[in-house]
Amino acid sequence: MSRKRILVVEDNEDNRRILLYRLRKIGDFDIVETENGAEAVAAVESNPPDLIFMDLKMPVMDGWEATRRIRALDAGRSIPIIALTAQAMAGDEQKALANGCNDYLAKPVVDPSLVREKIERLLGTATRH
Ligand SMILES: [Mg+2]
Repeated sequence: MSRKRILVVEDNEDNRRILLYRLRKIGDFDIVETENGAEAVAAVESNPPDLIFMDLKMPVMDGWEATRRIRALDAGRSIPIIALTAQAMAGDEQKALANGCNDYLAKPVVDPSLVREKIERLLGTATRH
């Protein structure tokens, strides 16, 4: 079985590092990092990932717009997207689900079992335990 490619879209370096640390503990993924929505859309166009973690508030292009554009691509229509939500932004969870995301995760991402559960559900594959 080939390695699953995960696209991480997050402008905050600390949050990105924490999530990457979790992902590397969970499985042997091919991880691609981008810092804004425009880079994310380009990454999906050039080499579609199996799963996307999408921050919502970012410079250049935010996660809402990036999700909309990814969903409009043939390559991006069915890629699972997990929104990364900030605790201060109440209501973003439901808004994300209503706007093309499959799931959401509150930042900072500190609970590895929660990340594992969401990845297993959305990728349909077992991870390293
Ligand atoms: Mg951000």
